[in-house]
Amino acid sequence: MTPEQLSSKIRTIPDFPKKGIVFRDITTLLQDGEAFAAALEAMTAPIRGLKPDVIIGIESRGFIFGAPIAHALGIGFVPVRKLGKLPGETITVEYELEYGKNVLELHRDALTPGQRVVIVDDVLATGGTVAGTIRLVEQLGAQVVGISFLAELPALGGRARLPDGIVSAIIPF
Ligand code: AMP
Repeated sequence: MTPEQLSSKIRTIPDFPKKGIVFRDITTLLQDGEAFAAALEAMTAPIRGLKPDVIIGIESRGFIFGAPIAHALGIGFVPVRKLGKLPGETITVEYELEYGKNVLELHRDALTPGQRVVIVDDVLATGGTVAGTIRLVEQLGAQVVGISFLAELPALGGRARLPDGIVSAIIPF
C-alpha cells in the first residue's frame, strides 16, 4: 500500500477537539485490516536496522501502533502515560500542547542506562509530546535512537524540535 493509499484511509475532521484544529482521525485506518497491517509494516521498516532494545508508545494512540511493532521486532514495550495512570514509582515531565499544557509519566524502573529506545506515536504535530518523552528517556540514562510516526503535519514544524536524522513519518499532511 502506498503512502497515498494509507493517507486516504485517515479521516479528516475539522474543528475537533477545538475550533481551528484539523483533526486526523486514524480510527478509519485501524478498522481496515489491510491498511492497519500496511501502516505497521511501513512504520517498522525504518527502525528495524536501528537494533532497538525497547519500544516506547505514547498514550493512547502510540500504544495501538507501538505494541504490535514491539511484538514484530521481538522486543519489549514501555508505555508513557498521562499523569496518575502508572501505579509504580514514576518520573514526570511537563510539556506544551497545541492547546494547553500536559504532564507525562514513565515508570522509573522501565528503562536501564544505555538501552536503545525507539518512540512510536500516530501523529507528529508540534512535537511537544515527543520532546517531553525524550526528556523522560534521557533522565533514565537510555538513548533515543529512532522515532516513528504514521503521519506528520509539517506546517506545525514539529520535526525542527526533535533530534536530526532519527525521525520517520510515512504520511505528510
Ligand atoms: P504534538 O505534541 O503537538 O506533536 O501532538 C502530539 C499528539 O497530539 C499526538 O499524539 C497526536 O496524536 C495528537 N495530535 C495533535 N494534533 C493532531 C491533529 N491535528 N490530528 C490528530 N492528532 C493530533
